[in-house]
Amino acid sequence: MDILVIGSVAFDSVETPFGKRDDVLGGSATYFSTAASFFSAVRLVAVVGDDFPAEHKSFLNERNIDLSGLQTRAGKTFRWKGEYGYDLNEAHTLETHLNVFESFHPEIPEIYRDSPFVFLANIDPHLQLEVLKQVQRPRLVACDTMNFWIEGKRDALVDTLGHVDILVINEAEVRQLANEPNLIKAARSILKFGPKTLVVKRGEYGVLVFGEHSVFSAPAYPLEEVFDPTGAGDTFAGGFVGYLAATNNLSDAAIRKATVFGSVMASFTVEDFSLDRLRHLTWDDIEERFRRFQALTDFEGLD
Ligand code: AMP
Repeated sequence: MDILVIGSVAFDSVETPFGKRDDVLGGSATYFSTAASFFSAVRLVAVVGDDFPAEHKSFLNERNIDLSGLQTRAGKTFRWKGEYGYDLNEAHTLETHLNVFESFHPEIPEIYRDSPFVFLANIDPHLQLEVLKQVQRPRLVACDTMNFWIEGKRDALVDTLGHVDILVINEAEVRQLANEPNLIKAARSILKFGPKTLVVKRGEYGVLVFGEHSVFSAPAYPLEEVFDPTGAGDTFAGGFVGYLAATNNLSDAAIRKATVFGSVMASFTVEDFSLDRLRHLTWDDIEERFRRFQALTDFEGLD
């Protein structure tokens, strides 16, 4: 099943305790699409400036990501600059330049309008809503956001959430959005905004998935070397939605397995800067790590 995604395609400048990169390929939609493309066909809606190099477009094209919805406009591509301390769970945003996104209005190509799976990656919630107005009722709408939009465009975000089935956000953002310090209470109140499922990303502590009557917990894959956590959340979402779209199954069991595939994909992204680890990732690598993940959490049948 095809996935339609809207989000940022960006140049990122990132500094972590293990290195520094300037103006490398990034963006929420870029990480999402690349991860999801290991599972399903992806249709990307975004905008870049005329400074965006052809090699980045070829990389996405080679991953079988349909770029008919990627507009190129005069001006500069979205730029984000961030840094991490030794606690790699928390990104500190130094600069956000929306650039061509400031005047962007998504136009969903006719052939994308019946997309059964839609992912609203982290971007202005007004743009997320504009996309939903142009598609026929999809089988699944999932959504991400961040503190930047919770602080700046809260009302539009809450409007968007009224049309979303699954919200995927960071732990700190759950508390911020609900205005409630207790995570469980915060999750319950966010589910009242509309989503039936809330996926809480907790960095190296894993993921908690809240349904109406259930909670599921998955650890993060323990890694000795983490170089750059940028994109981990979007890559998680790509594996998560990618798996659901590939199986076209939205059962509780499928959501649990999708959570593990999302965690597997995120564990690769953080092993290198930008999308570099995903560039040479194979399906065998993914399956092998999935099996290790199973062994990591297995406590039955070992006697
Ligand atoms: P994450 O998966 O949460 O680490 O997301 C990292 C990506 O989000 C980076 O590649 C940034 O380009 C992108 N990003 C950062 N701030 C924003 C924003 N305000 N809107 C959209 N995308 C953003």
